Amino acid sequence: MILPGKTIGILGGGQLGRMFAIAARRLGYRVHALDPATDCPAGQVADLEINARYDDLPAARAFASGVDVVTFEFENVPADTLAAIERVRPVRPSPFVLETTRHRLREKGFLSGAGFPVAPYRATRSADDLRHAIVDLGTPCILKTAEFGYDGKGQVKIGDPSQADDAFAQLRGALGVLEGFVRFDREISVIVARTHDGQTRCFTPFENVHRNHILDLTTTLPASDPLFSPAQQLAERIAGAIGLVGVLCVEMFARGEELIVNELAPRPHNSGHLTIDACVTCQFEQQLRAVCGLPLGDPSLQVPAAAMANLLGDVWSQGEPRWDRALAIEGVKLHLYGKHDARPGRKMGHLTATATSLEEAKHKVLTARQSLTAR
Ligand code: AMP
Repeated sequence: MILPGKTIGILGGGQLGRMFAIAARRLGYRVHALDPATDCPAGQVADLEINARYDDLPAARAFASGVDVVTFEFENVPADTLAAIERVRPVRPSPFVLETTRHRLREKGFLSGAGFPVAPYRATRSADDLRHAIVDLGTPCILKTAEFGYDGKGQVKIGDPSQADDAFAQLRGALGVLEGFVRFDREISVIVARTHDGQTRCFTPFENVHRNHILDLTTTLPASDPLFSPAQQLAERIAGAIGLVGVLCVEMFARGEELIVNELAPRPHNSGHLTIDACVTCQFEQQLRAVCGLPLGDPSLQVPAAAMANLLGDVWSQGEPRWDRALAIEGVKLHLYGKHDARPGRKMGHLTATATSLEEAKHKVLTARQSLTAR
């Protein structure tokens, strides 16, 4: 057990690291954040920000020796760096979990090998592979890079076999995964926490709406939803199968009563941000408890319903957003990540609304977001 007063190292200094650091400091821990960029969102609230590239092994070793346990908020940490850190301090979740989930082919291989439902897929190493894979899976289908893709980056939708060469060129030689297109009704995510001794707790499932491949709106799934328990059970089984110590987000497509796993993220997730304002224990405190070997917290909702709307850099396009208007709405909370450069598409913050009904929570959060830019 790593008790309050000890120091947690976090790899990655983005908003997930920032909200983790806030939760950890509330419980009396110290936090060191490693990120290549100075004045990063997590660095602003951590006890110490260390700026180094993720492939700087001496810096990674020095970072590890200054902390008691290492966790991460960013998946693309090189394997050599993780190995170097693990020789000095425990890494939770384990490098195996990270290595599996940060690579789409390894992730799909693990999931399908363990009997979990995934969309049909093929690895593509050449334009020829891709042409054959398109014949196998049919169109439409989606070509994704095996590594380094997020928020729809590194993805091409293929509507017709004649687009194969174009799509292949867009990957610029990177290893690809072709996925059959899932005609889903809804997208659902479940965040599950698991400790080293197998204690598991799930948050309420969330329903997610993406815009331009970026998460736009998350709402809590009503307990009466037929997929509520099946989605939680699926996430718990995956957490156990992969040997998770930490938190894991399982993103799923729902088609009728069927659930298909899209992606795993072995860390807190954007769809879980509403847990800060809506749950007894938030996803960041749950990550802390899991990696420190403490009892997991109660993840249940403290309110009937909640909704979260992301704030992208676009919200700044007409100057400083009208924060006063959003904050005037009862039940609305503002979270900003301390990023300086409000580029279009960049996640800058989010709004959460809690309410007595789902419709009301959704209405409040969307009204609040609109009011930021209304003239
Ligand atoms: P990903 O980066 O894999 O999470 O994909 C981002 C978004 O693209 C998902 O949340 C879906 O909305 C959409 N998407 C990804 N893969 C598929 C698929 N195989 N079929 C249909 N839509 C998909």
